[in-house]
Amino acid sequence: MIDRRRLLAAAGATAASVSLPVSAALAAGGPWDLLVIGGGTAGMPAALATAGAGGRVLIVDKAPRLGGTLWFSGGQMSAAGTRLQRELGIEDSPEAHLADIQRLSRDTADPEIAGLAVRHAATTIDWLLDRGLRLMDGHPVTGTGHEPYLTRRVYGPSDRGPAIFRILERALNDVSGAVRTLTSTAAVELIQDGRGRVRGVVCESAQEGRLDVHARAVLIASGGHNANPELFEALTGVPLYRAAWVGQNTGGGLQLGRAAGGMVRGGEHYLCDFGSIPANLDWPANEFARSVHHPQRRQPWELIVNVEGERFVREDEPSVDLRERALLEQPYQRYWLLFDHAVLTRAPTLIHSAPPARGAWTTDRLLQTFAGNHPAFRSAATLEALAVACGMPPDRLAATVQEYNAAQAGGHDRLGRQHLPLALGEPPFYAILHQGSSLLSWAGLAVDSELRVIRSDGSPIDGLYAAGEVLGKGQLSGQCFAGGMMVTPALTFGRLVGQRIMAST
Ligand SMILES: Cc1cc2nc3c(=O)[nH]c(=O)nc-3n(C[C@H](O)[C@H](O)[C@H](O)COP(=O)(O)OP(=O)(O)OC[C@H]3O[C@@H](n4cnc5c(N)ncnc54)[C@H](O)[C@@H]3O)c2cc1C
Repeated sequence: MIDRRRLLAAAGATAASVSLPVSAALAAGGPWDLLVIGGGTAGMPAALATAGAGGRVLIVDKAPRLGGTLWFSGGQMSAAGTRLQRELGIEDSPEAHLADIQRLSRDTADPEIAGLAVRHAATTIDWLLDRGLRLMDGHPVTGTGHEPYLTRRVYGPSDRGPAIFRILERALNDVSGAVRTLTSTAAVELIQDGRGRVRGVVCESAQEGRLDVHARAVLIASGGHNANPELFEALTGVPLYRAAWVGQNTGGGLQLGRAAGGMVRGGEHYLCDFGSIPANLDWPANEFARSVHHPQRRQPWELIVNVEGERFVREDEPSVDLRERALLEQPYQRYWLLFDHAVLTRAPTLIHSAPPARGAWTTDRLLQTFAGNHPAFRSAATLEALAVACGMPPDRLAATVQEYNAAQAGGHDRLGRQHLPLALGEPPFYAILHQGSSLLSWAGLAVDSELRVIRSDGSPIDGLYAAGEVLGKGQLSGQCFAGGMMVTPALTFGRLVGQRIMAST
């Protein structure tokens, strides 16, 4: 039999990285001040804040290691009123940040939740920078890829999400006596008393089976549900077009919160990105490659047509938000990028490999891909044959190209496109399929301003908190891709939950 003192010492020395048998951790710890379901972006700071205030924490994570989405995330964060902004003379405030989010989301962000996030975001960034987080050159910036803010308040770590993970991991090691970690262990049920108060979690691991763990409070920080296509579609009303990055994020925590009476909201704010090239035609699909669709980086030489063979947005629309919203209305949120041989040989580089590769494609590579059998790359000797190969009505595609060519000749486009370099007419013709999608979960557990999970009547479930992507992008920032508004609220809300739980003891 392992004795309690030896167990505590062993667990303390390795809290952030080593999995203990569930029974051993129970013997060493419970009841805990906080049990964290999911040791990722939100869960790690929650544990730190609880430990920092003198509490004892158990983190339970389904994955074999901590970090969750931070291993893959760009780690872009946003905050107003940071020390760095002041040093750079950038005037900003949480009120301005919130107003900007409402501008981007067309007033669909929840002012209470988004307001809470932006009010406490600067402390998160200051804390990370104090602990040595290095940013990309020129940061903060107004944005990177999605619609920019009006002010420079986006902070991108030079080593993306993993850089944030390393800082959290180091900090957790410093409080390892107060934080225990169980990896490869899933939370599968909440323990509630007769009055519905949450008092712990039933955990399950392959090695240990099922065990009850008791805690004063439980934080659901189990991330999104993009590894669960059925749940995603049921909560969002849109198929999951893009395959998940984190296989563990199947929405288990969200389901636990729901089973305890928690309300789910935000799925109606779903927005797709402006698309990338899928690895196959079925979904959810991995990303195969990307084209440069920002006119600020490369003016378009191609046509963008939906699966009906019709244009739906001016290809050089400067606002990525307007392009995304236009794509949202198209069947299957798909389009073909259409061009001819003259464009292929004369236009600047169009395609880049998807991360992590990220290299620009040569014309030879593009031609080889068309010559192969990739389902997203089609070419044909005539427009009509290309339409058939892509499943578009040939007569509509012909009319679309004819209209565009007339606009190009006359210098006036119906959709307002300004960049009209070449008419399309030199065979062969080419088309590349693009799929709009989202890496993020939009629906999530509703919380109040204390981050307690609430029922549909607004009443909080005693002892149950939620933070991170399990709240859903729709609840956190409405219908938009406001820069950094997933990682920052996850880190910030995790910390706030830890502080609030300890303040209420
Ligand atoms: C490729 C990519 C790039 C991104 N880039 C950005 C960006 O630049 N800026 C931004 O703001 N957002 C970005 N995001 C989103 C952002 O990274 C995530 O929303 C955020 O990191 C999620 O944090 P979280 O703590 O909620 O979940 P995670 O960090 O995913 O942590 C959840 C943890 O819970 C565990 N878990 C799940 N279910 C259970 C269970 N039942 N029991 C126990 N453990 C469980 C998982 O194993 C995981 O470790 C990006 C996302 C992706 C995929």
